[in-house]
Amino acid sequence: MIDFRSDTVTRPTQAMRDAMANALVGDDVYGDDPTVNDLEQWAAERHGFESALFCSSGTQANLLSLMAHCERGDEYLCGQQAHNYMFEGGGAAVLGSIQPQPIENEKDGTIPFTKLAAAIKPDDAHFARTRLLSLENTINGKVLPLSYMAQAREFVNQHNLKLHLDGARVYNAAVALGVDIKEISQYFDSMTVCLSKGLGAPIGSLVLGDKAFISRVRRWRKVLGGGMRQAGILAAAAKIALTEHVDRLADDHTNAKTLAEGLNRVPGFKVNTDVVQTNIVFAKVDPTIDQPALAAKLKEKDIIITPGNPMRLVTHIDISGDDIDTFLKELDIALA
Ligand SMILES: *Cc1c(COP(=O)(O)O)cnc(C)c1O
Repeated sequence: MIDFRSDTVTRPTQAMRDAMANALVGDDVYGDDPTVNDLEQWAAERHGFESALFCSSGTQANLLSLMAHCERGDEYLCGQQAHNYMFEGGGAAVLGSIQPQPIENEKDGTIPFTKLAAAIKPDDAHFARTRLLSLENTINGKVLPLSYMAQAREFVNQHNLKLHLDGARVYNAAVALGVDIKEISQYFDSMTVCLSKGLGAPIGSLVLGDKAFISRVRRWRKVLGGGMRQAGILAAAAKIALTEHVDRLADDHTNAKTLAEGLNRVPGFKVNTDVVQTNIVFAKVDPTIDQPALAAKLKEKDIIITPGNPMRLVTHIDISGDDIDTFLKELDIALA
């Protein structure tokens, strides 16, 4: 199968399966799992934070972070397109009594500081208390520049806010910028990292922050039913994702560029290659093309796409350069 739906569809490698089979485990709710403890200690150091927590998903990692930064009646500033506003079921409001204050993202994914400043509420009983700015990098495959993140740090310092990064795909950002992950993480009070997206672990995300913050995160994780027992089985694969699968993200980015350029040669498809900065391609598709029929034809050739306009195609560890060529060939045939 050549599956373009998401970078979450990857299967664990043999090395991951071996590590999972052989992992030393214990009850992590008691703090007894040596493989989880190793991952959390290693990850804290690697990303330049005091502490880390392994949890089940990116959505949970964001929710725990928001609940650990904000109390009932507080609010967080975020992008209108932010995953933790748009695509997490309103969890912060539903489960945390925290109000989101979304602000329109610019085309490049940034949020203008003038608009952010204007959205900060005065200290007055009419208003929610503005506590946090939450950014996302990459956002829809686009990379926020280091200079923007540095300015965001200055902004939150000036306004006495905390700064969170939804870093589900932060390693794609680091690889695209050609910098060590700490060049990005240094600006943030907290950061989440998805290990089951481009990095190829089967399950798991990290929350990173200082000791006091992570102990609040750990508490909320238990409250939300996210305490896991012999989770070392998962942490073993997660460690390999972080140690072995980072540099190869550059291949996904190259493949996405090749895919974008190839699609621009297909009648009825149009990609703005300027915004293909990492592993996500958005193609505008001529509305006369019957996309469900196209998807069905490609499925017969073991190729999976998600119909949509724009159509989103994501490259990952289980899609090779040859697979891109195969897809473009089969797409031409299916459209003929
Ligand atoms: C996928 C994603 C998440 C959520 O991760 P899940 O593991 O799917 O819950 C959060 N933020 C961003 C930016 C994402 O792309």
